[in-house]
Amino acid sequence: MMNLTILGSTGSIGTQALQVVEASDNIRVRALGAGRNIKLLEEQIRAHHPRYACVADEALAKELKLKVADTDTEVLSGAGGMEFLASEPGSDTVLAAIVGFAGLVPSLAAAKTGKRLALANKETLVSGGDLVRRALAESGGEMIPVDSEHSAVFQCLEAIPKEQREAEVKRIILTASGGPFAGRSREELLDITPEAALKHPNWDMGAKITIDSATLMNKGLEVLEAAQLFCVSADKIDVVVHRQSIIHSMVELVDGAVLAQLGVPDMKLPIQYALTYPNRLPMTDNTLNLAKVGTLTFEEPDTDTFRCLALAYEAAKAGHTMPCVLNGANEAAVSLFLQKKIGFLEIGEILQRVMQAHQIVLHPELSDIIEADRWAREETLRLAQKS
Ligand code: NDP
Repeated sequence: MMNLTILGSTGSIGTQALQVVEASDNIRVRALGAGRNIKLLEEQIRAHHPRYACVADEALAKELKLKVADTDTEVLSGAGGMEFLASEPGSDTVLAAIVGFAGLVPSLAAAKTGKRLALANKETLVSGGDLVRRALAESGGEMIPVDSEHSAVFQCLEAIPKEQREAEVKRIILTASGGPFAGRSREELLDITPEAALKHPNWDMGAKITIDSATLMNKGLEVLEAAQLFCVSADKIDVVVHRQSIIHSMVELVDGAVLAQLGVPDMKLPIQYALTYPNRLPMTDNTLNLAKVGTLTFEEPDTDTFRCLALAYEAAKAGHTMPCVLNGANEAAVSLFLQKKIGFLEIGEILQRVMQAHQIVLHPELSDIIEADRWAREETLRLAQKS
């Protein structure tokens, strides 16, 4: 029986993870963490009976405590509560599915304990990847990716013995759906509304990652995430637009062989694999019918139009605090776009200016990362007010 803690249980990944738990006989929910959605969290507590639950917002935690006073679940609150959930010894696996930079500290806490870290929260690795990797190396913990592209690369790499990978893997090829605006020019993107950007053609995800998919920043964050996860430099990671989202990513070997993982676009498979690895459990309703799909297409990404992807490669090259600044500025810019305070194209324009203004801190510790994130958000707001 595996004891699982889900941080971000009320989100898109979190709710799908609970569906995986419900279909399995050997995963028990130890703890659930969420931001503000106490209505859904209460339902999850009543269905899964966790030992602990945590809400980011302290006032809402008080409200939830009253609502679930008849259960055995202890309700905690705030960032300290999330860190406790991630590190307390009763769970074997922590699924990190909080959105954004808020996921870094709890993910780091889980990494320090030697548990399995099933990582969906890509912003954690983009901002503080070196810290997480160091913590895992010291604790002997393992990190299994949940992001579908990284899960695909992880699955492909299993075909190559670990000690041969450095010599035999030539490059990683991440596939990108291209989002709802693939093929459009910058002029055609001028008047994009949040409502239009929130309609992803293939995946049903949280708002922030859906906007990131529309700007291609999601793919940029994934390049940075893959560099950390697989210990390769970003110039060995390519992106190809594959609109059908059937090939989830590929690994090219030095002899020209290309390994790929295919499947219907359904996050439950990579979530389940991250939880049950190295075992595979049967899943229903996700059979891939290639004859029905018919055509698989591939295109170069248009980085002149979708500048966020090019900025992510620049951030990878600069390293140190730059990826964290890119991430923090992007979170702030996406939030401004969703509030209709800046336009769609301004997201990339502002990010570029924030990156240009950043004084890199070499070999950052956690306090430097937190400060870089704070500065990036503040600078984004300042530039947005001026624009
Ligand atoms: P959602 O917006 O759907 O969910 C986010 C979750 O994080 C919610 O449970 C939310 O709680 C919680 N949350 C937000 N802020 C805080 C906070 N400060 N403290 C604690 N919890 C918080 O996002 P997704 O599920 O789509 O994405 C989650 C992560 O997984 C992201 O990093 C994303 O990039 C990654 N990912 C997502 C994929 C997907 O298919 N959705 C695919 C691959 C990666 P509440 O709602 O209660 O406020």
